[in-house]
Amino acid sequence: MEDSYGREIDYLRLSLTDRCDFRCRYCMPEDGIKKLPQEEILSYEEIVKLVRAATQLGIKKVRLTGGEPLTRKDLPGLVRMINEIEGIKDLSMTTNASRLSEFADELAEAGLDRVNISLDSMDPEIFSEITRGGDLYSVLSGIKAAKNAGLKPVKLNSVIMKGINESEILPLVEFAVREDIALRFIELMPMGEASNGTLEPLPLDAVKRIVAEEWTLEKDSGPEGNGPAEYYRVTRKEEAGTIGFIFPISRTFCENCNRIRVTAQGNIRPCLARDEEYKLRVNEDTTIKELARQLSKVIRKKPYGHRWEEERETAGEMSEIGG
Ligand code: SAM
Ligand code: SF4
Repeated sequence: MEDSYGREIDYLRLSLTDRCDFRCRYCMPEDGIKKLPQEEILSYEEIVKLVRAATQLGIKKVRLTGGEPLTRKDLPGLVRMINEIEGIKDLSMTTNASRLSEFADELAEAGLDRVNISLDSMDPEIFSEITRGGDLYSVLSGIKAAKNAGLKPVKLNSVIMKGINESEILPLVEFAVREDIALRFIELMPMGEASNGTLEPLPLDAVKRIVAEEWTLEKDSGPEGNGPAEYYRVTRKEEAGTIGFIFPISRTFCENCNRIRVTAQGNIRPCLARDEEYKLRVNEDTTIKELARQLSKVIRKKPYGHRWEEERETAGEMSEIGG
C-alpha cells in the first residue's frame, strides 16, 4: 500500500530475536543487552500471521534479521511457512553467518532466496576485536556454504571505522572479487559505541578513495534487489567485481523508502531513525483482517524521513530494532 507520501510500501524487515552470538562494537554493549523475556518475543505462529496480513497490504519482500536470526530454533521451519504464503516474492536474511555452514542447505531447501552477510575484516584478530570474540573462519565457511547452497545473490555488508579496520578495505574487496560476491560498504550509524563517539566512521568517500588506489571504479546498476546502494564495477587487470556504498545518514534515501520494520517483540517501527514504535496486538485469536488493519494504520503514519543529521542518536540498539 502507499503511505501518506505516496511511497509504495512493499518490504517488511522482521527482527526475529534480540539475541546474538556476537557483540559487535557498533551494535551491542559489551555485556550484551537486557534480554527480552522469551514470552515477549513473537512466536513463529504470530510471525506467520503478521506476514499474511502484510501481504494483504501489498508486502512482497520479507527480510529476516535481528539480532542474529540463526540463534532462533528451527529457522528453516519458519522460512518454509513464510515461503508458502501467497504474495511473497522475495525472502532474504541478514546474518553474521557464524552458524550458516550448518543451516545453509536446509534454509535454501525451505525457500530462502538470498542472504546478506556482515563481514568487516579479513584479519582474524581485527574481526574478533570488532565482534568481541567472533571467529572469522566460521563466517568464511558460512559464506562458502551459502554459495554452495544456491542462495543467490550472496552480498556482504561492511562497516568501516576510523583506526579500527581501514586496513581491511582492500582485503575485503579482493575477497569479494575472488568469490564473485557484491560487497557493500555501509556508513556507520550512531548506535552502540558509535553513539557516544568511541567509534568514528570512516566517511564512504574516503573508503572509495582507498579502493580507487588499486581498482578502477565505474558506476554500475548492481545486483538484483539492490535497495538504496550506489554500485560500481571494479576492475584490475583481468579481475572484476561489484562494490556498493550505502549512505543511510549523509545521503538520505527517504523519498524512495519502501520498508517497515517489526521488532522481535512485535513493535512496528515505520522508520529506523525515528523513535516511534507501535505495539502490535497479536495473539492466537487475532484475525488476519484485524492485523492488517493495525499495520495499515501504522503505514499511513510512516514519517517522511530521518533526523540523524540534527540529533545523531536513536533510541534502542540495532540488535533490538533489527538492522
Ligand atoms: N546479526 C545479523 C548481522 O550482523 O548481519 C543481522 C542483524 S545486524 C543488526 C544487521 C546489519 O546491521 C549488519 O550488517 C550490521 O553490520 C549492521 N549494523 C549494526 N549496527 C550498525 C551501525 N551502528 N551502523 C551501521 N551498520 C550497523
Ligand atoms: Fe550481532 Fe549482527 Fe549486531 Fe553484530 S551486527 S552484534 S552480529 S546483531
